[in-house]
This record gives sequence, structure tokens and C-alpha cells, in this order.
Amino acid sequence: MNKSLYSKLVFIMLLIILSLMSVVGAFLMNEIRSFYLDDFYEKMKTVFENQGLANDLYSAADGPDAAKHMAEIVQLYSGQLGIDSRSRNYYILSGDTGAVLGGSGSEEGELAMTPNITTAIGGEEGYISVQSADYMDVALPISGSTGNYIVYIIDNKSSVRELSSAMFEIILEALLIGLAIAALLSLLLAKTMVTPIQSLTRAAERVAAGDFSQKPDFGSEDEIGILTRTFNSMAGQLEDTLNDLTKSEQMRREFVANVSHELRTPITSIRSYAETLMENSDLPPQTERDFLGVIVKESDRMTNIVSDLLTLSRFDAGSIEFQFERFSIKKAISDVYNSMLMEAQKHNHKFTLEFKTELPEIVGDNARIEQVLINMVSNAVKYTRDGGRISITAGANADAVWISVRDNGIGIPTEDVPKVFDRFYRVDKARSRESGGTGLGLSIAKEIVTRHNGTIALDSKIGKGTTITVTFPVEGPHEN
Ligand code: ADP
Repeated sequence: MNKSLYSKLVFIMLLIILSLMSVVGAFLMNEIRSFYLDDFYEKMKTVFENQGLANDLYSAADGPDAAKHMAEIVQLYSGQLGIDSRSRNYYILSGDTGAVLGGSGSEEGELAMTPNITTAIGGEEGYISVQSADYMDVALPISGSTGNYIVYIIDNKSSVRELSSAMFEIILEALLIGLAIAALLSLLLAKTMVTPIQSLTRAAERVAAGDFSQKPDFGSEDEIGILTRTFNSMAGQLEDTLNDLTKSEQMRREFVANVSHELRTPITSIRSYAETLMENSDLPPQTERDFLGVIVKESDRMTNIVSDLLTLSRFDAGSIEFQFERFSIKKAISDVYNSMLMEAQKHNHKFTLEFKTELPEIVGDNARIEQVLINMVSNAVKYTRDGGRISITAGANADAVWISVRDNGIGIPTEDVPKVFDRFYRVDKARSRESGGTGLGLSIAKEIVTRHNGTIALDSKIGKGTTITVTFPVEGPHEN
């Protein structure tokens, strides 16, 4: 990746330098050429518009040795005209044929016929500049009594060509140096950009391999910095999700193991009693009845476990419809009290009910709330030695109703209190099983209370007793 980014950056930089230099070079060369051209015609005009020079030339044309004199006169102005006998020369030509009569250049006889010479032969001043030609010239007709003459200045552009090629070399050198600097700079630039991207890539590879321990941080506020922070927050969320998934996967496994274990126990016991009955046809009738009783009790237990599990899985799937309606919670509590009274009395418990305040009617699922209360009371009965005290108290504040079930039973060790709402969690498995418990009652109770937007809390001291309190909002869960 870094290789391609490097080369891309270098390539782009080089391209920029190359195009920049080409444009500048072409522009400069063109400027030089047109400056030289303009300068030439400017000079010619300035010199030849000088009336003194014109007068001198005309009077020379009238005298003897006209061409020679005229040449001498032009020679006097050679400084101003830029005559250097190398690239720029002057000539005195015959005004009729264009033949060379004298001048600074080495050409004898005929010069190449240029448009300007032709114009001058025709008696007009030749100041035409031909951009594409490899020369610049000016031809001025001078007529005198001794004949027609032309003062002719020609520049073969060799100096401008030399200047151009010198310029071209300079531009080429500058281009090479520029390219080298650009290559170096773009490497540096690529490095500053690529280094954080590389470490971000490494971090992403680590995350992909499940290692969240290192978080890249460049402390910069630029795009790379933003990318890094976004990456880190994404990695953080991924880590949380993974942890949650692992946790729920662990819970699922535990749950499956628990279910299998819970179901195997009654099956094993049913099987062994049934086998004994099958193999021993001569058992006393009372023993046979006892054994059959155990089988029935164990199958009831299995039915209970399966139906509780079904309830819980329906809660999990959200497929249980609650019948929310306004009903008298006071009546529901009294009904639960009355239905559990016999059971409590069977164990010689002193069972009381007290309303601390008036209770308003609440919005909720009457039957399910009664199910919760029955579970609370039956736990109190189950986990209190015979002859204990069990009380239901209830009251209300502005927006909620609370119901507490208190017993002076065996209690729960402090460290187990937070776990009693977990599925299948039981402090004393044998005791719970003995009394027909499934270890799912409080889990179901908690689901029901939560659906009502209520709370459930358990307070217990080992050997002293337990108080479990639920609250339900008067107006029910607001989602409905
Ligand atoms: P179970 O069917 O075993 O009663 P629950 O979910 O109703 O299942 O209760 C979970 C566990 O919490 C029980 O096994 C018991 O150990 C403990 N527990 C619940 N209520 C009481 C209570 N009133 N006194 C003592 N322990 C209790």
C-alpha cells in the first residue's frame, strides 16, 4: 500500500513540476522572441525618424560616391542601430535592382529579396515584420540626383537564437533541479501521510485478530486524527459487542446445561422406580402405591419445569401478550392471601395481611401480578420452618403501589442474594426440589415486574428471614 501511495505522490509532484516548467519555459521563450522583435523595430523607427539622419542621407545621395557616403553616415549610427557586423548588418542597396553597393556585412552582389526590399524598390518604406522568418529587416528608399538607393538593415536573429538556447538550457537545469526537489519533498510528504496510515492498518489487523489492547493515537486534529479517533471508537464498540456476545453465549451454555440437568434428575428417578416396579411383581401394594406416587410427583415436577421454561422463552421471544387493564390491586392481594392461607396454616405459620394505606386501582395484568405474589408467598412458606411468621403488607405513594412479603425463615446468604433472580439459581437445591421448586419462579416474577415497569427487590439475613418487595406504577407501563 505504502509503495503505491509513495509512487503516486511522487508521480503527481513530478507531473506538476514538469507541466509548470514547460508552460513557464514556452512563455519565456516566446516573450524573449517578441521582445527582441519589438525592440528591433522600435530602434529602427527611432533612428530613422531622426530628421538629421534623413537629411544627411538625401544630401549624400545627391553627391559623388553616394553609396559610400551613405554607408559612412549609417555607420555613424551603428551604435544606436545595434549593428554588430555579426548578427545585424546594414547595407546600401541599389534602389532599382536591390544589388549590394556597400555596407557592414560581408555579402557582395545580391541579397535575398525580402518583402521589405521589394517594397523599398517600389519607393515605399519597408517596415513589415514577418514573425515566422529567420530574419528581421528594414528597407528605406532614398532617392537623389545620382540615383535610387535603399538603406537596408537586416538581423539574422542569431543572437535571439543564442539567447533562446541559453535560456532553454537554464530552464532545463531548473527543471532537473525542480524534479529532484519535488521527488524529495513528495517522498517526505508521503512518509508523513503514510506512517500513520501504516500504524492504523496494523491496528486494524490487530483488531481483526481479536486484540483490542492497543489503540493508535497521533494526537493530530487533521483528517488522519479524525480517522484514528473514529477507528478507535469503532474498535471500542466492537469490543463491547464481542464481550456481550461472549457473555450471552456463556449464559446460553450454562442455561442449556442447567435445563438438561434439571430434566435428567426426574427422568432418572422415574425410570428407576418404574424399573423396580417392573422387575418386582411381588412388592407389597403399599410400596407399589408409594412408588407410583413418586413417579407422579416427579412427572409433575417435569411438567412444571417445562411449563416454566416455556413461559420464560416466550418472554424472551416477546411473544407473550399482557392484558393491561385497570383493576383493584387490593382485591388481587386479598385473593392471593386467601388462596395461600390454607397452605400457610398447613405449616402452622402465622400468616397476616395489612394495608398501610388505601390502594388505588392500577393498570396491569391482573393474573400475572397475582402469579408474582403467589410465587413470593409460596417461597416464604417453603423456606420458613413450620410455625413461622409470614406477613403481607402493602401501601401506595403518588404513582406506585408496593407489596412486601416478609418471613422469619431460613434466609439467604448475603453473597447469594443478587443471584436469586437468575434462572435455575437455588441456594439449597435439595430443599428447593423437595418442596417442588424449579428455580425459575423468581426469574419469571422479575420478567413480569419488568414488563410492568415495576421493581423487585429482595432483602435477606441468613437464619433471620427474608423480605421481598415489588412495586407497580399506578398507570402501568407507559408504552401501552
Ligand atoms: P424455587 O423454585 O427454587 O423456589 P425461585 O426462583 O422462586 O425458585 O427462588 C430461587 C431461590 O431463592 C430459591 O431456591 C431459594 O433458595 C431462594 N429463595 C427465594 N425465596 C426465599 C425466601 N423467602 N427465603 C429463603 N430463600 C428464598
